[in-house]
Amino acid sequence: MQIDVVTIFPDYLAPLELSLAGKARDKGLLDIRVHDLRGWTHDRHRTVDDTPYGGGAGMVMKPEPWGEALDDLGLDGATLVVTTPSGEPFTQALARELATRERLVFACGRYEGIDQRVLDEARTRTEVREISIGDYVLNGGEVAALAITEAVVRLLPGFMGNPESLAEESHEDGLLEYPVYTKPVSWRGHDVPPVLLSGDHAAIRAWRHEQAVRRTAERRPDLAHPSVLLDDVEVRLVQ
Ligand code: SAM
Repeated sequence: MQIDVVTIFPDYLAPLELSLAGKARDKGLLDIRVHDLRGWTHDRHRTVDDTPYGGGAGMVMKPEPWGEALDDLGLDGATLVVTTPSGEPFTQALARELATRERLVFACGRYEGIDQRVLDEARTRTEVREISIGDYVLNGGEVAALAITEAVVRLLPGFMGNPESLAEESHEDGLLEYPVYTKPVSWRGHDVPPVLLSGDHAAIRAWRHEQAVRRTAERRPDLAHPSVLLDDVEVRLVQ
């Protein structure tokens, strides 16, 4: 997969150089490039924003630098990901979908966002996804691009040493993950649940499923498919 990130704060993306991207790059799975939008400005002040038509507070990112950047990077075969709090919610399902793409180009907004025509024009050429990482407002799209990249890259085939660990994670099957424990057996008066020490794999599977259902019902009932919450385990839980 190739990932291009366009931003006015390239330094913000430095964490991409850390273990995740490095590991994926070493495995030949990923090529990440970060680009400074100001490189596509032509005035002395390298201006990327201007006042909004129609008035109102804040500034809007100008279309010209974005247009030139996307032309130079090329959108052929790419999915343009525009980070915005008004986008579709980012979920594990969407991460899985993006992980199937050959190339992602991230457009990181700042100020009040990017002139809408940049998105409208790009849509005539390629797939554009406006994505929100949550119902809150960040100062810029860089943190969102980092979060989306991390969630997507760990799903690339060949990235995880043990792909089974992906299958059991929260959000993969409509359930939150069960609680996990490691050594020692007893710590500050708290013991590991005995079933995990029993060696009885069927009992361990059943206990984990029960815990996952319980957690999901308590914390995120909106997530679980009704059939999951109504299976035998849930019936036992509510009795
Ligand atoms: N005026 C915009 C609005 O109300 O929708 C918010 C602009 S925000 C201050 C600046 C930039 O931060 C956005 O263009 C977007 O790129 C990014 N951003 C902020 N919150 C975000 C979120 N929840 N998800 C993804 N990107 C976000």
